[in-house]
Amino acid sequence: MAEKKTTGKTTMTTKTPKAAPAAGRRTAGGAAAGDAAGGVAAGGAATPVQAQSLGPGVWVELSVAADIEAVEAVSEILTRFAPGGTSVEPGFGLTNEGLGAVVDPTKPAIVRAYLPGLDPAGVERSIAEASTALGHLQAFGLRPIGELQTRIVREEDWAEAWKSHFPVLRIGRRIVIRPTWRRHRRRPEDVVLSLDPGMAFGTGLHPTTRLCLAALETLADEGLLEHGHAVNGAACVIDVGCGSGILAIAAGKLGAGELLGVDTDPIAVESTQQNARLNGRTRRLPVRQGSVPSGEGPFDLVLANLIASLLVQLAPVLRDETIPGGGRILASGIFRDREDDVRAAFEAAGLTMGRRWAEEDWVALEAIRP
Ligand code: SAH
Repeated sequence: MAEKKTTGKTTMTTKTPKAAPAAGRRTAGGAAAGDAAGGVAAGGAATPVQAQSLGPGVWVELSVAADIEAVEAVSEILTRFAPGGTSVEPGFGLTNEGLGAVVDPTKPAIVRAYLPGLDPAGVERSIAEASTALGHLQAFGLRPIGELQTRIVREEDWAEAWKSHFPVLRIGRRIVIRPTWRRHRRRPEDVVLSLDPGMAFGTGLHPTTRLCLAALETLADEGLLEHGHAVNGAACVIDVGCGSGILAIAAGKLGAGELLGVDTDPIAVESTQQNARLNGRTRRLPVRQGSVPSGEGPFDLVLANLIASLLVQLAPVLRDETIPGGGRILASGIFRDREDDVRAAFEAAGLTMGRRWAEEDWVALEAIRP
């Protein structure tokens, strides 16, 4: 996921691995100060810290972007002023089909430190002195070092701050993802999914999820969810690796008749159940901890937002979950350079490749069982 973080006037794009939303949220309630502060307060060197906005429960975040080799020197300077020490966020890049992240030493790291706002005069002095000391370091020409940035962080905002990362999202023409704490004025044609991201993956923020949702909408427009082998004559759908349940719930709202979610992660099972309850019409969404074979197939539509290596490995099993004579698989989570491997595995399993959707580094593929 590409997430924009604003650090004062420096805006950088941080690539986070696929599992990051869940991991981020696990810490958001308490620990990760730097993270939690992410979307909260305004500020930055362009907006000098106003003495009147300081006081108890207020912190001033100092941050400096620095070449990895200058991090230690910059940390040393900021530590002189910040009683709690510094945190360093390295620049990183994606690996392992986009699932992993590695530190990329060619990208600048961000060094952060927090000054208590109790003593406005002290804050002002610290900022001036830190700025001077950093200036000396810059003059040294050791390695590139950015400007000192400042911003105000209020304690009471920290615990709730992560919520600002989850806006109401419109995907495709009519799918709307509404986090439970946000309001949305619905247009008549909108298909609104209420979601509590909880700790499972699947908030709609990740490109692989968005690709599946857009593809689902297309299939729904073609009537493929309204017609199938469910008892009510609509489609039966399995969501393999359901995470938050977002895809299964969307399929239900778009017309599918019977749904099943499976996920190896018990947190995902719980999260899907909770989200199904939040979305009235899809209350009937059985969820099992486990994987495929589900023992309940075959299905008109198999949703599989997994990763390429797993799709390759599971290709024959996914085929068996799909109804012969036109049943289809929507496979997503495919990092760009693994697309050919997935195609080859699906074709070897006797599937016919259909449409393709792509966003950023990610690809989703439709496969049809003849
Ligand atoms: N469907 C959601 C979540 C996708 S993330 C969305 O589109 O946003 C992938 C999910 O697959 C995770 O929740 C993970 O726990 C689950 N998973 C991983 N390996 C699996 C496997 N072998 N079988 C079933 N689920 C698996």
